[in-house]
Parts: sequence; structure tokens; C-alpha cells
Amino acid sequence: MADVELIRSLLRPHPDFPKKGIVFLDIFPIMRDPVAFEVLITHLVHHITSSATVAPVSSGAKKVDVVVGLDARGFLLGPIIALRLGASFVPVRKKGRLPGECVTATYEKEYGTDSFDVQVDAIVPGNKVIVIDDLIATGGSAKAAGELVKQLGGHILEYVFIVGLSFLKGHEQLDAPVYSMIEID
Ligand code: IMP
Repeated sequence: MADVELIRSLLRPHPDFPKKGIVFLDIFPIMRDPVAFEVLITHLVHHITSSATVAPVSSGAKKVDVVVGLDARGFLLGPIIALRLGASFVPVRKKGRLPGECVTATYEKEYGTDSFDVQVDAIVPGNKVIVIDDLIATGGSAKAAGELVKQLGGHILEYVFIVGLSFLKGHEQLDAPVYSMIEID
């Protein structure tokens, strides 16, 4: 598909970032190009609204209640997609950065652990939720975000990413459908 190839062509690999041995894929060149950024958002919104998981054929009901974006690049995609879907946007932030009562989930990073917070009143039981981030690697951060959604009674329709590093099998960590626009084997 032309849109997938356009977005793939704009991903910039940065060897040895943030440390030696890691090839970091930078998504910001997509956002520098307004045509490409529009193509990206349109592709993801079209996927979400046409996905059998999200839009059962028989349903005339509102399909997505909440788009949850992960700290930090999920914050750049999530609000735009939420507005196009007529859904709420909810940030999952690194621990300690959100005011008010929060629930917390801890996840493994390459070295040590990290924790995510979400505000308790951001999702109500029964809400249908899309979780979004720029990239899935090991799946640890998306899994933690999913745990927070479930702690608040939300139902995850799908996890959505621009890029999936399929060889790391992060999707196997997640217990709802996973869509990556670009799979890297
Ligand atoms: P995971 O928790 O191992 O799946 O790592 C995914 C998280 O790390 C996401 O929030 C990504 O934004 C970030 N991340 C890991 N590697 C990359 C990369 O190569 N490019 C952009 N983000 C990355």
C-alpha cells in the first residue's frame, strides 16, 4: 500500500541511540511533513473505524469511547485520533506526573523497572478503549497501560502502533488485538 510505504520511507534509524547496540527508529520526520502526517492519521483512523474488532457490522452504537496514549509519543498521536473518532483522550504518564487520585502499574525496562499512572476518573467501567503508541518493542509499556485500563473497568478493543518490532514478539504480551501499520521482522 502506498500509504504504508510512504510512512516506512520516513522512519529514520539511528544506530547506537540512546546507547550502543540499539537502533532507534525516529518517527519525527513523519510529523515534519504535513502530507505524510495526514496520511498516517487517516490510515490509523480508517483502520480503527473499519476494523471488525472495533466496529461490529451490526452495531450502530458509538464504537470507541476512549483513546489512551502512552508517555510520550502516544501523546502526539492520541489526541488527534481521539478528536477524529469523537472519543476522549486519556494520557498514561510516567509515575508521579499526574495530579489527583491515580492507579499505577509497573513494567520491566531493559534495566530495572518503571511505572505508569492514569487518573482514576479518566475511564469508567465498560468504556471501550484503544491504546496507542508510536512503537511496540518488548510490549512491556503497552501491557502496563492495558493493566491500568482494565483496573478501571475499561475494555480494550485494540492496541495500535505505527511500528511493531515483530521479532521482539511484544504483541504476545498483550491480551487484545494488536495492529502495527509497519511490521519490522
Ligand atoms: P516496549 O515497552 O519495550 O514495547 O517499548 C516501547 C516504548 O519504548 C514505546 O513507548 C516507544 O516509544 C519506546 N521505544 C522503544 N524503542 C523505540 C524506537 O526505536 N523508536 C521510538 N520509540 C521507541
